[in-house]
Amino acid sequence: MAELKDTWDLTHMFESVKAWRDGMDEARALADELAGMQGTITKDADTLYLALQRNDKLGEKITALFVYAKMYFDQNMANGEAKDIYESADSIYTAIAEKLSFLEPELLELTPEVFAQYAQQNEGLKLYGFMMEGLFEQKNHIFNQQIEEILSKMGALGNSFEKIYDDLTVNDIIYPEITTPEGEVIEVNNNNYQIALNHPDAAFRYAFFTKLLGVYGQHINSITSVYYGSVKNDVFIAKSRKYESSRAMALSGNHIPEDVYDNLIATVRKNAEPLQEYVTLRKEVLGLPEIHFSDLFVPLVPGIDRTYTYEEAQKIVLEATAVLGEDYTAVLKEAFENRWIDVYPAKNKATGAYAIHSYGYHPFSLLNFTGTLNDVFTIAHELGHVMHSYYSNKHQPFVYSDYCIFTAEVASTVNEQLLFDYLYKNSQSDAEKALLLCNQLDNIRSTLYRQTLFADFENLTHKMVEQGMPLLPDVLCKEYRNLYAIYHGEDFVIDDVLAYEWARIPHFYRAFYVYQYATGISAAVSISKKILNGEADAVEQCRKFLTSGGSDYPINLLKIAGVDMAAPQPVEDTLQYFQDVLNELKPLLKK
Ligand SMILES: [Zn+2]
Repeated sequence: MAELKDTWDLTHMFESVKAWRDGMDEARALADELAGMQGTITKDADTLYLALQRNDKLGEKITALFVYAKMYFDQNMANGEAKDIYESADSIYTAIAEKLSFLEPELLELTPEVFAQYAQQNEGLKLYGFMMEGLFEQKNHIFNQQIEEILSKMGALGNSFEKIYDDLTVNDIIYPEITTPEGEVIEVNNNNYQIALNHPDAAFRYAFFTKLLGVYGQHINSITSVYYGSVKNDVFIAKSRKYESSRAMALSGNHIPEDVYDNLIATVRKNAEPLQEYVTLRKEVLGLPEIHFSDLFVPLVPGIDRTYTYEEAQKIVLEATAVLGEDYTAVLKEAFENRWIDVYPAKNKATGAYAIHSYGYHPFSLLNFTGTLNDVFTIAHELGHVMHSYYSNKHQPFVYSDYCIFTAEVASTVNEQLLFDYLYKNSQSDAEKALLLCNQLDNIRSTLYRQTLFADFENLTHKMVEQGMPLLPDVLCKEYRNLYAIYHGEDFVIDDVLAYEWARIPHFYRAFYVYQYATGISAAVSISKKILNGEADAVEQCRKFLTSGGSDYPINLLKIAGVDMAAPQPVEDTLQYFQDVLNELKPLLKK
């Protein structure tokens, strides 16, 4: 049983469930008030200001209600009361969103000129300038009600491709069985994928992998058709909304220049050599005559036996991030000491780890700490999110307090990098050093190289459809195989089944999303390098970034942190860093 101090104190948000229910009534009342303004919100400056203020207040309230309910539920998913309020939070959320669906179209009746005039008449409106700018930009891609209705229905139809894919691959396909070297019969499915590919027996890994991808191969015609449908839908919506391309549409929301995407692919392709060198090193260290995809995940060095108590882990994370300043350390300590964190696994508690926040309250984090090295990294990671939210909430008005996915993983990954550096400098043995270096390499391989390969592939498929070419199984598999050859080099054996791997990746049904993993880690590695090299202003810039929330376009926010993601530099730096880590690892493995 976890001690109270290692669980959340949810009274920091609501005194009791009764107080939560009262909060729900307040939210309903706020929504009604705002709904009552329908048809009038743009009539003059003061009414507009009132509506936007009410909308913020409601947003604040409803997020808090939702966050509390989710946390209460995640602590003990068998708790009936928690389940009940979580479900009501969910349904009220939907109901209110529906009731207020008039808001955005009505705001869009304004023009930038009228809004500017209003902002002269009511100073308070200046706050909403950036938000309105984003809305006005969308306006060029929004049409009359009849077309909008059709497009929205098409959008709903478009979502069915992902649903079909999930149904096929999760529910319908019957996966074969395999016997592990330990004599256990397991199913060759995606749940067992990680364990199997980490198994020390190369023949078993290979058999598992070829069987699994073979299953996708057997269904390659259906999966191609579903994927083709999904890409056609992306292209259709983008064209109808008068975007230059489906990629332009996907990137426009956060104002990401398309150069960012092209630079990423070009830079990674140009710097594939370190990855290829790593592939060759793996082959040598694992003592394999040939290296296959199934050999890319197994740990190169044995794990260390050491475990950490939660107190030790706290101390390590505090010391590793101390470079970010006294104030940072003080808030982190408060998070540890003041029950912001639910630490240990428990019966019926949610698995995994996350950070969560709502405006006006401190953030919280859920962990399932068991004392492994990985768990220490998870603390650094999740507390990175906590601190980013803490500072953004403190320094931004509600409307700009939330950061978007493009910047979301930067603070957490910077912390992981600082932790790596600290542990590496304090490591006791070559074995520990080698383990840490290998973790770094595998992390960058799977987040930067691998996700860029995916980004490269979806870029190709969308371009093909935009040029009127059909997506056929043979063509997709050939293109995919070709990408593996470009990225992984000559030592790497491309098995025939590897060409089916694209069919296993659910993220492809969310087009132009995964590149953000690659840019995120690149930004984080660049920022942490600057900090660790003691570059002037590096800490200050990073601290300023943490306070910036969503107050500007993500590219501009990262410039505050000292990285220009529109230039190839951060990606180049990260790939150079990969090479440096590799050079450091090599002599340790040969000892
Ligand atoms: Zn994260």
